[in-house]
Amino acid sequence: MEILNPAPSTLYQIIPPEVCFSCDVCCRFLEADSPLAPIFTETEGKKVVAHGADPSLFQPQTDGSSAQIQLKPHNDFYICPFFDPETSHCTIYPMRPLDCQLYPFALMFSEDGREVVLGVDTLCPFGEAHFESAAFQRHIRDVIDFVESEAVTAQIIANWSLIGDYQDTVKIVHTLTQLTDATSATHP
Ligand code: SF4
Ligand code: SF4
Repeated sequence: MEILNPAPSTLYQIIPPEVCFSCDVCCRFLEADSPLAPIFTETEGKKVVAHGADPSLFQPQTDGSSAQIQLKPHNDFYICPFFDPETSHCTIYPMRPLDCQLYPFALMFSEDGREVVLGVDTLCPFGEAHFESAAFQRHIRDVIDFVESEAVTAQIIANWSLIGDYQDTVKIVHTLTQLTDATSATHP
C-alpha cells in the first residue's frame, strides 16, 4: 500500500475505504446508551444541525460544550443515526466529528485515571493486522503530532468529554502530557 506523506498536523485516514465498507465494526453499537457513541464538539454539532440534523439527537455532555449522539435501534443492535446500513456509508462523512475521524485511534484516560493517553483500538481488524508495519507506525507518529498540535489540543480541552474512560481493548501508544495537565482538575 502506498502512503502519501502529508503534513504531520493533517489527519489522514490510512485505512482504504473499501476495507471499511466491508467491515461491520464502526458506527454500530451493542447498547442504546453506549459510551462509545460519537461525541461532537460544539462547533461540529452546530455544523451538522445547520445541515439539517435534528438538534434533539445531541445529548449535552458534562464539559458544557460537546454532545453525544443518540443512537437508534437497528435489527438487534444500535447504529449512529448518520449511518446508512444499506451502503455502510456515513451520510455526513465530510462533517463527521473528530471522534470518528480519529478512529481506530482513541483518546482516553489511563487505567488509573491519571493520564490522558492515545491508543489504537484492537477491535479494528485493519489496525490489528497492520499495527507493526512501518506504514502504520509512521501513521501513529503523525496522529500523535496532529492531536498534540496547538489547535487540536485546544479543541479537545474545550470539549474534554471527548476523552473517554479507559478501555482494555485499546493499545496505548502515547501519553498526551498537555491534555493530562489540562484535565487534571476535571478528572482528578
Ligand atoms: S473497525 Fe477499522 S476497518 Fe472496520 S470500519 Fe472501523 S476503521 Fe474501518
Ligand atoms: S458520524 Fe458517521 S462515522 Fe461517525 S459514527 Fe456516525 S455514521 Fe459513523
